Amino acid sequence: MKIFTITSAITVLSTLISVGLAQEGATPGGTQTGPSTYSCDPNTCKLPKCQCASQSPPGGLKPSDTPQFVVITFDDSVQGALLQTAKDMLNVKNPNGCPAKGSWYVSMEYTDFSLVQQWYADGNEVADHTFTHVGNPSAQEITAAKEMLHTYGGVPYGKITGFRAPFLNYTASTLSTVAQQGFMYDTSSTATLDDCFWPYTLDNGMANDCWTGICAAGQVKLPGVWELPMYAVMDNASTPQLMDVYLAGSMSDVTTWSQTNFQRHYTGNRQPFGIYVHPTHMTNYPGMPDVSALKNGVVSIIQSLAGKPDVWFVTNQQLLQWMQNPVPNSQLASQPYMQCNVPNTGKEICNGLQNITVSSDGLVQSPLLQNCNFNTTNWHTCYNCPNAAPSLDTPVPPAAVQSTDPSYRKPVPDNCDSIWWDPVAGQCLCTNSSCAYTDTAAPTNGSSNGTSANGSGSKSAAAPLTKPMLGGAVTLAVAALATLLF
Ligand SMILES: [Zn+2]
Repeated sequence: MKIFTITSAITVLSTLISVGLAQEGATPGGTQTGPSTYSCDPNTCKLPKCQCASQSPPGGLKPSDTPQFVVITFDDSVQGALLQTAKDMLNVKNPNGCPAKGSWYVSMEYTDFSLVQQWYADGNEVADHTFTHVGNPSAQEITAAKEMLHTYGGVPYGKITGFRAPFLNYTASTLSTVAQQGFMYDTSSTATLDDCFWPYTLDNGMANDCWTGICAAGQVKLPGVWELPMYAVMDNASTPQLMDVYLAGSMSDVTTWSQTNFQRHYTGNRQPFGIYVHPTHMTNYPGMPDVSALKNGVVSIIQSLAGKPDVWFVTNQQLLQWMQNPVPNSQLASQPYMQCNVPNTGKEICNGLQNITVSSDGLVQSPLLQNCNFNTTNWHTCYNCPNAAPSLDTPVPPAAVQSTDPSYRKPVPDNCDSIWWDPVAGQCLCTNSSCAYTDTAAPTNGSSNGTSANGSGSKSAAAPLTKPMLGGAVTLAVAALATLLF
């Protein structure tokens, strides 16, 4: 019965999506779904602002001089037990001695924002995966998540630069919205064999997932916005496996597929290799089957890739910094974005690096944190709890206490990175140029109720870009999927 429902939901969903693509297409006749019409001239499309989709390394580098990047990404809510799974996976070192880093595409429900801040303060990437985890998200879904990650997780707006569509169900409309909101990149598309492209800008459209029609002329043209394809692992039947590959076969099969595909990249054109997971599948919960073997298997795969002098575990943000100015492997260790200095603030402050304990049943504790408790949710933050549970319409309600209250936490200003900001004292502990930070990104739509920085320099006010004729139906279909699958 459940299987029938899932299948129905998928059918409804894919029908709606293809209808959506056809309706949005600027192509006369409307329904071009043939092979890629992608074309790009590398003589006019040049780094750092423009990059053609290509299987060859950027900057004319020889594959043998090119770093082999491995990106490990995590999707959905950030919770204590899930964060521990992520840390176990990233427990390897890069060739310069710095710890591996990862990217987390965060949805808001069940997320504990004190752990978002810890993840960020540890040098990892925090990215946007919408507020309620819906397919074909509205602009509001995307801004709401960004505002909460900033306000309660302390992540500067300018550091939230990436987006992944829930269920990877992106459309041309999604990509436009992401571009309008000032994101630097999307990573929702799939790369298999023929389209195993290095990251590229969308100046000339999409070059992945062309079977959907997304590559047709007029669908997508977003100068300067990067697409980071997700790199599939081909299984024994040459079926592309993308997310949670560890669920697609026995651990010995999955290990073999992973090694074979890694070697294809490593001995080929060194396109990044991806490991994309929902950590919830690899995390033990009371009363549920023990999944330690799954996690241990994935950790073993990751450890087998580590230790090579040219294999680097990076966030998608680090990968993009390299893409914009590609240097040979021999110079990567010294790049500023590959360092791992821990800020010396001189005292323990609520910046994500303070001692936070997570008990075995997931309880988060630290004397510096505020506990925000609503009827259905409970989370922590270094900043002020809102006076009501965040909602899609009001993701950042007014603070629960007045700014004159002694317990009031001072929001991060836009001239201090939160790792240097003491929200209790209202003081930036960065005193020299090496840690100075100015957030030039704007609050997303000005509805942050004074809990964000001062709002100057607005450059990403987003026009709502919803598709009313599809939105409700797609939401229903996705809600059905979400309930059954995840
Ligand atoms: Zn998701």
